[in-house]
Amino acid sequence: MNKELRKVIIAGNWKMNKTRAEAKVLIEELKPVSANADCEVVIAVPFTNLETAVNLTAGTNIKVGAQNCHFEKSGAFTGEVSADMLAELGVEYVIIGHSERRQYFGETDETVNKRTKAALEAGLKVIICVGEMLEEREKGITEEIVGIQTKIALLGITAEQIKNVIIAYEPVWAIGTGKTATAEQANEVCSYIRGVVEKLYSKEVADALTIQYGGSMNAANAAELLAQPDVDGGLIGGASLKANDFGVILAEASK
Ligand code: PEP
Repeated sequence: MNKELRKVIIAGNWKMNKTRAEAKVLIEELKPVSANADCEVVIAVPFTNLETAVNLTAGTNIKVGAQNCHFEKSGAFTGEVSADMLAELGVEYVIIGHSERRQYFGETDETVNKRTKAALEAGLKVIICVGEMLEEREKGITEEIVGIQTKIALLGITAEQIKNVIIAYEPVWAIGTGKTATAEQANEVCSYIRGVVEKLYSKEVADALTIQYGGSMNAANAAELLAQPDVDGGLIGGASLKANDFGVILAEASK
């Protein structure tokens, strides 16, 4: 098992939650529960809270992420935010291709690839989300779907650049539903993704790649999921908004 070769990363995806005033309160609550974490701790906050989060987490072990970025450097893209704009603020991570962006905002595998390249060029670390819908799992095509998503997302990304890529396996049917993949299902797909990456790059690259599980991970189920050999952390939605629950997940990831 090569788990010791990889960085365990727990990232909170706040989604469209928390005003600036509310974000300040949550970040102050997160500081003590994160302080002793023996893993990378990331909070991906709404755009409007990025600067606040960067300032409030300075000198702590909490890293700040955004939840999307555009693929062009600048221009006539009303309502969009570029990767350079994020990097300039001190943001270190960006989530790309979350299923909610795919489902509600027209994100495709091709735009995931373009955004990933732009973010890497700006010096950001990218959490690329992949995952099957319930019908796809029921049809037995989970591996094909996740394999294609991974391959297209990584098109043109070098072995050097992939050091700044994290893949989050998030079965769409498990996100925000309270339905978690079993630890075996999560590990099976994370392991499959690692195999895809090995074929695209090398065993060395695949062994070093952090692959998270996301989908209703919480304080009660984190231990079992995180103990799996190919699960190197979590992308956490709902439970990342509760400091104590996030703290429990961090403690499990630190074991
Ligand atoms: C997510 O938003 O990436 C997610 C996994 O959400 P939840 O933990 O709420 O299912």
